[in-house]
Amino acid sequence: MTWPTSPVPRLPGRGEVVRLRDASGEVRLSAEGPAAGMYVCGITPYDSTHMGHVATYVAFDVLRRAWLDAGLKVRVTSNVTDVDDPLLERAHATGVSWEHLAAEHEARFARDMAALSVLPPDTYLRVSDVVPQVAEAVAAMLDAGAAYRVPTAGVGGPDVEGLGDVYADLAADPAFGSVSGLDDATMRALFAERGGDPDRPGKRGPLDPLLWRRERPGEPAWDGGRLGRGRPGWHVECAVIAAQGLGPSFDVQAGGSDLLFPHHEMSCSHTRMLYGGRVRVHAHAGMVAYAGHKMSKSLGNLVLVGDLEHIDPAAVRLTVLAAHYSSDWEWTDARLTTGQARLARWRAATARTSGPAAAPLLDQVRAALARDLDTPAALEALDTWVATDGDDHDAPALVRALTDALLGVRL
Ligand code: ZN
Repeated sequence: MTWPTSPVPRLPGRGEVVRLRDASGEVRLSAEGPAAGMYVCGITPYDSTHMGHVATYVAFDVLRRAWLDAGLKVRVTSNVTDVDDPLLERAHATGVSWEHLAAEHEARFARDMAALSVLPPDTYLRVSDVVPQVAEAVAAMLDAGAAYRVPTAGVGGPDVEGLGDVYADLAADPAFGSVSGLDDATMRALFAERGGDPDRPGKRGPLDPLLWRRERPGEPAWDGGRLGRGRPGWHVECAVIAAQGLGPSFDVQAGGSDLLFPHHEMSCSHTRMLYGGRVRVHAHAGMVAYAGHKMSKSLGNLVLVGDLEHIDPAAVRLTVLAAHYSSDWEWTDARLTTGQARLARWRAATARTSGPAAAPLLDQVRAALARDLDTPAALEALDTWVATDGDDHDAPALVRALTDALLGVRL
């Protein structure tokens, strides 16, 4: 279910470990080594890959490449949220089975990531493949007093003695809120906007997130053991999959900035309550706009990877990397044209028989990436090398290796 990749070239010397800006604003070392683990929240496979997704996955692919260059033993885990309300709603609305819809978009995403030279995760799990493990985790939270049942009568399901939907009791987690640092009103607004149910009767706290949803007519359901038949909630899936691939604690939790709250705040809370685990850095990619607004299905302003099939994917990567990953930016045709022109200049320059010495350039690119993945500075350093003549015959090959290894751009 992952995708093919080419080997990453080894570069002379060793890069620095990247310092990343955490969601708190603090800049932290992204890993202490010798190993480094990252969880990148995956897609809900019901729609095509757009440039917002690409910007996120390319950004954290560059972090992974920098870690490899720093000599760390890297492990990356990701998920496919193939059991989730938006996917089930889309399947229902279009009259296809949810399994078919998910399989189609999962395959398309894999093709897009392979074309864009994003290295595949080491552990890549579908939610539908880990339902028993999630049910076990939810039962453990009930046993620990970190979760509670809410009756389903009146909200679409039959009430059965001892069963119910299960919610996390956030009051049991004193560290809740520490990831995003948001105030209560903002958390409530974002929770309601992004899939939460603050007004569900029977909940102890409005922000308490769903862990297990009992079977409803017309919805897919799995055997949940003591929980009865049902399906997992969104945030606990990621906590369980992350622990499977990376263990209880890991270095970087990554995703788009719209996942900071509630998704990362909640899954981090579950990780703490379930495994006593912690995450070193919460890193978020900015949102990509088009035609003046954040790309969204409802506004119809998506730029899809499929729309750019006639464009060299290396030019798409360079277009994305020209913006700093954590900033919000706008996709424009002019930016793409700049990316294409840059790729052509770099290809022409590295096809020369000689160029200026490349070792100083390698140092500059490594230093730029180590500063919170400053890819715009890395690209500028390369532009300068490309625009300069020199008589070092080994330099063009080293520059090709460095753009491949560190930026995922094959010249
Ligand atoms: Zn996630």
